[in-house]
Amino acid sequence: MCGIIGYVGKLSAKNEILAGLKMLEYRGYDSAGICCFEKGELKLIKKKGKVDTLIEVCKDKLKDVHCGIGHTRWATHGDPSDKNAHPFLSENNNVCIVHNGIIENFETLKGNLQKQGVRFRSETDSEVIAQLLQKSKCESELKKVQELSNMLVGSYAIAILFKGLENQIFAIRKNSPLIVGKSKDGYYLSSDVNALVDKTTEYHIMEEDEIVWIDNEDCYAFNKNLQAKEITYLPMNLSKQDISRGTFEHYMLKEIMQVPMAIKMTINECESIINPYNKLPKDLIRDVKHLTIIGCGTAFNAGMTAEHYARERDIIVECVYASEYRYRKFLSQENELCIFISQSGETADTIEALKIAKEHQIPTIVITNVSTSTINKLADYVIPTKAGPEIAVASTKAYNAQITALYNLMDYIYCVKNKINCRTCILKDKLYDVVNKLENYNFDKIDELSQLILENERVFFIGRGVDYATSQEASLKLKEISNIHSESLYAGELKHGTLALIDENTVVIVIATQKHLFDKTMNSIYEIKARGAKVVLVTQFDVQTDAIDMLISIPTTDQAIMAEISIYPMQMLAYKTAVLKGLDPDKPRNLAKSVTVE
Ligand code: GLU
Repeated sequence: MCGIIGYVGKLSAKNEILAGLKMLEYRGYDSAGICCFEKGELKLIKKKGKVDTLIEVCKDKLKDVHCGIGHTRWATHGDPSDKNAHPFLSENNNVCIVHNGIIENFETLKGNLQKQGVRFRSETDSEVIAQLLQKSKCESELKKVQELSNMLVGSYAIAILFKGLENQIFAIRKNSPLIVGKSKDGYYLSSDVNALVDKTTEYHIMEEDEIVWIDNEDCYAFNKNLQAKEITYLPMNLSKQDISRGTFEHYMLKEIMQVPMAIKMTINECESIINPYNKLPKDLIRDVKHLTIIGCGTAFNAGMTAEHYARERDIIVECVYASEYRYRKFLSQENELCIFISQSGETADTIEALKIAKEHQIPTIVITNVSTSTINKLADYVIPTKAGPEIAVASTKAYNAQITALYNLMDYIYCVKNKINCRTCILKDKLYDVVNKLENYNFDKIDELSQLILENERVFFIGRGVDYATSQEASLKLKEISNIHSESLYAGELKHGTLALIDENTVVIVIATQKHLFDKTMNSIYEIKARGAKVVLVTQFDVQTDAIDMLISIPTTDQAIMAEISIYPMQMLAYKTAVLKGLDPDKPRNLAKSVTVE
């Protein structure tokens, strides 16, 4: 979460940093700040609120200088305010830092510094970094940075300016991404490759514990023992178009419209010569007895969808939230295989869960949307989703791409176990048909449904089997961006308690795509209707009953993969409800894209 940007070079650092902060804003928007060298001094400006507020404040306050750092915050320690905004200066104003992540031992470090008389200006964990660097007695700045990395516990990407070293930036990372971008006009530092698009031709992804030192001529990298390292640069292959909103009002809307493309590109990957499934060792797959799928939020919900798909193919899957997997008692299972899902590949909980699996020698597969991500480097095998950059905080197209990849993976496992030849995507034709149907889908009833939700007090999403997984995702989407309380439940569970909350101010959205469960779900509908709630049914079946207030018809396909379709109107529902409520769906309250902290 949150964003770091740095620049040193021929161009105006102020312009480059403020433009970079705009690109990074989707990763945190509690506050933003910038610090540049101006006549040898460290000039700092920071402000609560969105980047536009900072841009306004900077207008006549910052000169066109050539080196600086900036930050857009997603608060973990201390409220969103001017004083808690990054960057932070040390007490004597000689060191300036920006930080992404959490310093877990900050209280001890802060306490020690306070005993030495250091006064702090903020409530954050991050400020301790600037004060530690100021207090350091090491002879060189590089050594100070090295010493710092040995003192900090937690996750961090840090950029540092030292007074006296004009036009130089130092940086360090651990469990939080940081990237160096190279261009003919200078060097950039960013926590996210998207901020470097159209700015740089090549970029270097810093490795764990790497220290970099950038000046306007070159970039030098060191390991934690300060031995110089070779830098590998990758070509920048994203274009501005990939990451712009285009003519869409919001990124979320653009990305919902790209759901069919995300499914299609993910199928094509498995059809291509580099079919990632064929890289999975057959003996490993054949012998797997216990499959664990691990993820957070939307990625976890995608995993739950696959659990049902796998069960139909006699494969037993356990889905676990990464934040739970990390801390539950580890029990070894015979021939276990762990599948990790993360859109960004930087989700802190998922990365740490993967490290635990690896410690126990469990083979690991990751499903990610970002090929250069941290998790890809750590896992044994990678299955890429091809959704393209996802900027909106609420994930949509990446979810469908994850489901597509999971279907393919489960088919592959099934085929290997049953000695069936499986070199390409078994579902190809059916999924192409889904793509076609989604491209032509008409969201005509969704405005009316958004209105209904806003007129009522609470919302439930219910479903049985795989439709429950879709209910979970639909409910999460609505909560994320419209600030409306909703809950999802197994349809059969409603009567075991939650029915107490059902009244005439309740909307219940029932997802029912599985023929063998349909009549059972209808029983739940009658029970709900009898309590006066408004019932909305999302289904491909033809239904005639007075118990339903609104029918959201969806196209039909093989019922095993109906989850690709049934979520589509629900993604649009979340979007439209947020917009109708006057909220910005791309900047939901308290959230930001890619949760790189615990
Ligand atoms: N933990 C730091 C803070 O609360 C950094 C948060 C972030 O990564 O934006 O300021």
